[in-house]
Amino acid sequence: MITESPLITQLADASTPAASLRHILDLTPSELNDWVVARGWPKFRAGQLQKWLFHRRVTSFEQMSDLPKPMREQLATEFQLFAAEVESHQVASDRTEKLLLKLGNGETTECVLMREPNRVTVCISTQVGCAMGCVFCASGMLGLKRNLSPGEILEQLLRLQTLLGLDERITNIVVMGIGEPLANLPAVLQVLAAASSPEGLGIGARHITVSTVGLPARIREFAHTGKQYNLAISLHAPNNTLRDKLVPVNDKIGVEAILDAADEYFEVTGRRVTFEYVLLAQVNDEPQHAQQLAQLLRGRCAHVNLIPMNGVSLLPYHEPAAPRTQQFVAILEQAGIPASVRKRKGADIDAACGQLRLKHEKS
Ligand code: SF4
Repeated sequence: MITESPLITQLADASTPAASLRHILDLTPSELNDWVVARGWPKFRAGQLQKWLFHRRVTSFEQMSDLPKPMREQLATEFQLFAAEVESHQVASDRTEKLLLKLGNGETTECVLMREPNRVTVCISTQVGCAMGCVFCASGMLGLKRNLSPGEILEQLLRLQTLLGLDERITNIVVMGIGEPLANLPAVLQVLAAASSPEGLGIGARHITVSTVGLPARIREFAHTGKQYNLAISLHAPNNTLRDKLVPVNDKIGVEAILDAADEYFEVTGRRVTFEYVLLAQVNDEPQHAQQLAQLLRGRCAHVNLIPMNGVSLLPYHEPAAPRTQQFVAILEQAGIPASVRKRKGADIDAACGQLRLKHEKS
């Protein structure tokens, strides 16, 4: 069952953007400090402001009640708190929630909130569209328009946070929405710093996962942040011939270069790398593909996350039958490669990456 939440009106009202103003979430903590001091306010006001932004789930500067009224007015004159509008808010029967956010110029992006008994995971987007062109992905169908700014990415986290009950908090972040995160690495690093710092959302780096199609130089750069973020590599094929077809950007990279960079990521961070593999019926789900994948990952500290294809009506790919998926898992496990099948969340809404945006853009 899909429902439009009553919160949509409240969120939309709170988010009417004043296009010429800066996004306050684009500022780093030190830029926020500088602004406070430059306007003649004591430094501690910057700390209060941070708390309101990240911890108190407000939707306007006016609600920041322990800041002096003139300061709140200055903030509202110079900044936007939320720059996007909620175009659509879907709630699935498993309480997965998805927002389609309308940015300036009518562009849109998506973010998702997923609830499990002991965790609340949010999935965020990093670009408007995507240039990688994976053939099974709705997000790449319309190409890349631009990178999202740090503020536009952080806004997704904070908007999703406003959907939570008072007894709930975000425990995990997956950067797996629309776009290739490592193609927008400076913005992503600023967002993750805010998400993982105690003054920000306070989510431990080990609870944050960045998913990439596999850009070796950027993986190496990401390895050297000094943080233990998790890395997930969207492999989807066990050889270059097949991967070139499914992930076209692969013909300029190659599986070997990606695995070398993944090895370095593990060596530097000590974090086991996850390899994601979308299972497409009769395309990459043959037993021989599982055997090749096992061969590729043998001896590596790796985990395979199998994702049965989530139907996108415009694409000619399908989910394999359950026994076929189980056979794939069994082959990997027999070869000593840990593997799991991703549980589908929000099956009754357009929760697969880019589906809601695609539907909106097409209409
Ligand atoms: S799967 Fe990811 S990298 Fe590939 S086109 Fe979609 S959003 Fe881009």
